[in-house]
Amino acid sequence: MFKVKISDGTYKNVTGAEVKSFWASMKFQIDKPGTTYPSGTKNGASTDANGVTHFSTDTLTGYQARSPDSSEKDKSFDYLISHELAHNTEAGRAENEWQTKNGTKDADGYYLGNEVLANSVAKTIEDDVGLKPLSSPTYGYDGNVVTLSASVNPSPIETTKAGGTLNLYA
Ligand SMILES: [Zn+2]
Repeated sequence: MFKVKISDGTYKNVTGAEVKSFWASMKFQIDKPGTTYPSGTKNGASTDANGVTHFSTDTLTGYQARSPDSSEKDKSFDYLISHELAHNTEAGRAENEWQTKNGTKDADGYYLGNEVLANSVAKTIEDDVGLKPLSSPTYGYDGNVVTLSASVNPSPIETTKAGGTLNLYA
């Protein structure tokens, strides 16, 4: 478990149970380049009313080119999945609620606070499960967003899904 600072000054916990729950239920659709997403943007990803997260192939290949190790290009896909999962956590949703009322969108239609929080939560999840986070994702990381708890459960619980195994701490 770790704490995430929301822009309203409060904190939300992200737990292994929450991450596992999303991991087990997330659905993705890969669209043609140039597709307009449910959010009205063409960059990054967007989740529709049915809970399906959309990426276009050009988003995926664009991130693939930014992996920290060119021999491990799939690391960028780990990042994208973790990042979208982070947006869906209670912390990600709380930040989005605050940003929708108080934030300013950038030229691409994104709230900086939402993206930095999602990146920082994604990095924490990736570090915890032994993945290799991107060194410089779009919008970057903020080391003040996440506070790690000293009292994590030392016994990993394994969740197996098509495409891989994710070890998480409850
Ligand atoms: Zn995002």
